[in-house]
Amino acid sequence: MLGLMQNQPLLQSSLIEFAAANHGDTEIVSRRVEGDIHRYTWADAARRARQLAHALDGMGLAADARVGTLAWNGYRHLELYYGVSGTGRIIHTINPRLHPEQMAWIVNHAEDEALCFDMSFLPLVQQIHSHCTTVKRWVALCDADKLPADSGIPNLTSYEALIANQNTAYDWPQLDENTASGLCYTSGTTGNPKGALYSHRSNILHAYAAVMPDAMALSSRDAVMPVVPMFHVNAWGTPFSMAMTGCKVVFPGPQLDGKSLYELIEAEQVTFSAGVPTIWQMLLMHVQSKGLRFSSLNRTVIGGSACPPAMIDAFADLGVRVIHAWGMTELSPLGALSTLKLKNESLPADEKRRLLAKQGRPIFGVDLKIIDENGEDLPHDGTTYGNLMARGNWVIERYFRFDKSAVIDGGWFHTGDVATIDPDAFMQITDRSKDVIKSGGEWISSIDVENIAMGHPAVAMAACIGMPHPKWDERPIAVVALKPDAQLTREELLAFYEGKLAKWQIPDDVVFVDAIPLGATGKMLKIKVRQMLGDYKLPDL
Ligand code: ADP
Repeated sequence: MLGLMQNQPLLQSSLIEFAAANHGDTEIVSRRVEGDIHRYTWADAARRARQLAHALDGMGLAADARVGTLAWNGYRHLELYYGVSGTGRIIHTINPRLHPEQMAWIVNHAEDEALCFDMSFLPLVQQIHSHCTTVKRWVALCDADKLPADSGIPNLTSYEALIANQNTAYDWPQLDENTASGLCYTSGTTGNPKGALYSHRSNILHAYAAVMPDAMALSSRDAVMPVVPMFHVNAWGTPFSMAMTGCKVVFPGPQLDGKSLYELIEAEQVTFSAGVPTIWQMLLMHVQSKGLRFSSLNRTVIGGSACPPAMIDAFADLGVRVIHAWGMTELSPLGALSTLKLKNESLPADEKRRLLAKQGRPIFGVDLKIIDENGEDLPHDGTTYGNLMARGNWVIERYFRFDKSAVIDGGWFHTGDVATIDPDAFMQITDRSKDVIKSGGEWISSIDVENIAMGHPAVAMAACIGMPHPKWDERPIAVVALKPDAQLTREELLAFYEGKLAKWQIPDDVVFVDAIPLGATGKMLKIKVRQMLGDYKLPDL
């Protein structure tokens, strides 16, 4: 017997209409590429998304056309998220930090029919447009009078000219909820990038999960600043979870340095933010060096790479609770977040700290397990590590335009991470499987080595990599960038490791560099770190 309840498709258009109807006067504040601060409301955003929908319908694009975006976090990008997907088309967010050649490859692979870009990316578009064979329309996210006359880009329109004079009412189609709504490519550190194609259903279920108290705990009383970019994995789903709660929104635009972020947080009384550790490190260095405090910020989600415990402590000293999160492009991205259970509340402070530094517990909608090399399940005892597998409502089934499924027997997706899971379901990432260091048959977690170095007050960033060794296979070394004006010797840092790691896990050497190379999503690029070291040899060889 079937239930007798209504069955409404889960559609992204219903999110923006919900926010407009119930939180219509709540503000959306954006620092624009133009440099000024723009303010409007959820009602304005919905109105303009509807105008955009009309404009897209009039452009002669296919019903399932991919519309590319090259844009920072801002109100026009938000309108694209809703205007494009609401019509049944697919917003393809492109990471502007990728190599231009790779960017053109992605545009062609996605077969983008239109591409919308912030004016700061005009030089980039001028470089790639002739290689993007499927793009019929280029849209500059600017006012009509700001459109350059001689850009050399064919069929270039300004966004504002495109949507001006369009009807502000629009009947969003009642699509099948499994219709594709968004496309994001992985950064392709190993081989060509691969596209994760999200659906209305997967994004809405992900948003429901993201706002839960054991996840991001978002509400209409929050002022949310997504620092994590809307050009990568939907800014961790915040464009959807923010509409679902009707919270105030603060978009930082292109200015992501510590000073700009701090000033915007204070000016707009941001309560919640989300970003990767490298960005927060810059914010913390600014706040600490100037002796500042936060007057409104009370929590932040940190993920994308391991959040060092020292960073959690530094934020706690400033009155900000860090929620450590793990996810990936293929998981929309949220898989696990670290919050305490009732029974954990009575633990000694250092035990709680240890738990909160883990990548966290899965949220309902995602299952996690670890397996060995033969595919056998491994125990969740907190010490056995294995290949981390995921399945669930917003986990990838197959990459875009790939014949082969990305999942193995039983619907599990191979994350490529190595992890432990404890009996209370707290998962901890040891390493990306390709970064694991094997020394004398034992594994050394590069994340552990990095986290300890990051706990030293002189260290700005640290990467641990394995170097070939004839006897041990590999030995770890720490590659370290110091904070401005800080002093630290190799011997001092090696001594700092004593008592914190087993002797054989302590790096053999420390190499100081000016800066650690970062990839397109703010993660350390270990391949580049290796290149920087040239023909480096371990001290005992
Ligand atoms: P890419 O596009 O580079 O594949 P993703 O943004 O999808 O990037 O990154 C996913 C990977 O990032 C995960 O598989 C994991 O290795 C790493 N990662 C994400 N969050 C964390 C975290 N909190 N701790 C450690 N590693 C993390």
